[in-house]
Amino acid sequence: MYKYNKEADVTTVTITPEGISVAIPDAKGELHDYAASVVKHSLGRWACELKREGKTKTYLVYLDGRGDWVCNCPDAQFRGFLKREETCCKHVKAGQDVYELCKKLVGV
Ligand SMILES: [Zn+2]
Repeated sequence: MYKYNKEADVTTVTITPEGISVAIPDAKGELHDYAASVVKHSLGRWACELKREGKTKTYLVYLDGRGDWVCNCPDAQFRGFLKREETCCKHVKAGQDVYELCKKLVGV
């Protein structure tokens, strides 16, 4: 297991035969792999489901029609990230990076 390097601010995306996974740090900075699936969502211009390896809960991250990022996790719902002086929850940060990767791959 490796630790998230906040100074480097790099998101690791892995592509395997099973799909795409993204490494997301927990509160201690330990990285966990989440399966990332780009999905269609009626409220969003772009949406992705994130499911942590070995867990059952799936988080939905999407870019809404106003350009705001939304996640259905408790941290985002109760805006706990503001107490940590962060701009969004960890799922949105990872989702934004997957979104940017998708755009770069298709040349947008
Ligand atoms: Zn979240």
